[in-house]
Amino acid sequence: MSNNSFEYSSERFDDIQLLRYRLDGFESLSLKQKLYIYCLAEATLWGRDITFDQFGKYNLRIRRALEAIVEAKIEQGSDDFSALVLYLNKVWFANGIHHHYAMDKFVPTFSQAFFERALRTVGTEKLCLSEGETLDEHIKILSKTIFDPSFLAKRVNKAEGVDIICESANNYYEDVSQAEVEQYYKEKKETAADKRLSFGLNSTLVKRDGELKEEVWHVGGRYGRTIEHIVYWLEKAISYAENEAQKEIIRLLITYYTTGSLADFDKYSIAWVKEHAGQVDFINGFIEVYGDALGLKGSWEGIVHYKNLEATQRTQIISKNAQWFEDHSPVAPQFKKAVVKGVTANVVCAAMLGGDEYPSTAIGINLPNADWIRAEHGSKSVTISNLTHAYAMAAKGNGFLKEFVIDAETLAQIEAYGDKTDDLHTDLHECLGHGSGKLLEGTDPDALKNYGNTIEEARADLFGLYYMADAKLQELGLLQSAEAYKAQYYTYIMNGLMTQLVRIRLEKQIEESHMQNRALIARWAYDRGKAASVIALVKQKGDDGTEKTFVKINDYEALRQIFAYQLAEIQRIKSEGDFASARNLVEQYGIKVDGTLHKEVLSRYETLNIAPYKGFINPRFTLVRDANNEITDVEVDYTEAYAAQMKRYSTEYSTQE
Ligand code: ZN
Repeated sequence: MSNNSFEYSSERFDDIQLLRYRLDGFESLSLKQKLYIYCLAEATLWGRDITFDQFGKYNLRIRRALEAIVEAKIEQGSDDFSALVLYLNKVWFANGIHHHYAMDKFVPTFSQAFFERALRTVGTEKLCLSEGETLDEHIKILSKTIFDPSFLAKRVNKAEGVDIICESANNYYEDVSQAEVEQYYKEKKETAADKRLSFGLNSTLVKRDGELKEEVWHVGGRYGRTIEHIVYWLEKAISYAENEAQKEIIRLLITYYTTGSLADFDKYSIAWVKEHAGQVDFINGFIEVYGDALGLKGSWEGIVHYKNLEATQRTQIISKNAQWFEDHSPVAPQFKKAVVKGVTANVVCAAMLGGDEYPSTAIGINLPNADWIRAEHGSKSVTISNLTHAYAMAAKGNGFLKEFVIDAETLAQIEAYGDKTDDLHTDLHECLGHGSGKLLEGTDPDALKNYGNTIEEARADLFGLYYMADAKLQELGLLQSAEAYKAQYYTYIMNGLMTQLVRIRLEKQIEESHMQNRALIARWAYDRGKAASVIALVKQKGDDGTEKTFVKINDYEALRQIFAYQLAEIQRIKSEGDFASARNLVEQYGIKVDGTLHKEVLSRYETLNIAPYKGFINPRFTLVRDANNEITDVEVDYTEAYAAQMKRYSTEYSTQE
């Protein structure tokens, strides 16, 4: 498939835009590597039903009911039927009946009467009744779950003053209160020989006959039948692994899936974090805890990826020159590292997404989560270039830049260099920015407290911004043009001053630390260059004749000098642990939102009609065989439609436990 003909954007419904990602360089992998990926991909797809069940007690039963109604085409053509199809699309996307991001229960727009009538027509054998349950009882509980707005209203509810366990609709706990959960795990930790385990990570906590009990997720336990399928494909993958370390990692993971022992999980994580030699890597298990109000239970997720060798070469060049960058930065000498080591960020291509990473997914991963393992054994960090690329390609032509960029010349610059400088900025941020500089002796690393994250991100971003305009990047062959940095400078300032506000609701403030850091840098730079009008906010008529606000950068070289000043100052604050200055900067520039500008940005964004949430349709692998039935290749197909893929997964990767 040629570069131009690949369709990155696919269907759209409600607030969701579906995209496709391309497996760049997959064809040049060896057959063995492809088969390794194939087996790991099967293991990734098998976990889907676990995620559905974790996200809500009735999710799998509801999914089955909706799929059966659609398959039987009951009252097809009616408004009710179309509304139910839309609802099913949303349920597939969210792995359940709650919005994947907002956590609120979806509001159905089909009638309860239609739903109940349709279920009776479908009949019991197509549904997923519990043992001893009658059809009437089944219909009653599914109806209540879908239509009663107060029942299981929010997947995760962390509101103050409520029992965050009882009020969260996820399926990690049964009949237990927040106080009981906290007490249970407090005791568990106190009595455990190894207090560093991730207590509660892989179990449902239930109350049976008044006793609290963990139902552990492992072979022979809860989700056991599904886990057996995962283990089957992991075992198959072993014979195609690239090296001995990978084989050992998979064996350790299988042991963990078999025993359910958290000590086994730690052994696996430690082995995993040390393996760097192979090109293919994967995550498969109970990992992130955001879906539990108490942050204990890991949602099931899977991803398979392989190194993007070209991009990794780029980060290697940067890493190798880390000392040069440190020595030449505008930071005061006493805050610089005498010996600095760059980090080679692994840039990877996703090959398959599953569970909590599908269809909505992260674009970077940094694991393991256990702090003690990170401290003693390190962590692995990857950025996923083919997903970022798909986002960028899908954004082209959506009208966003045309709406917010001031003129054709700037727009052309961004179109020519924007993607390239974005990647490079991320590399500089990750490979050098976070690792640069040093704390003065005696400075408490936590001195900046709640402002620490924002200042740290600002430091890394400024390091990247400062060097983006440096001739060194051309000398190293990383940038071809001396003008390219202007694309990055313009979009960075436009984002920080204006367009990132599209992600914030009216009358809210900026809370997330990356967003705070971008606002901090952009607004501070604006203020600092105000007298000389380095950056201006100008009003001019847009294409539609209305007055609109635009960012205008009058002097790019002066802006670079402002970034240099900011970098030096932010590093000083960090090195000295100057809490008061950190607080002043973040409070002055990073948090508050100008209501008038915010309103304008939101309304301009709204007219573009861009779906705020995106997710991915997976590719489909097929084994190619010769006349002797020997496997000769693994083919990648990108044509499967969203609903077809979801229905196929529900059929092929389901045990309906
Ligand atoms: Zn960062």
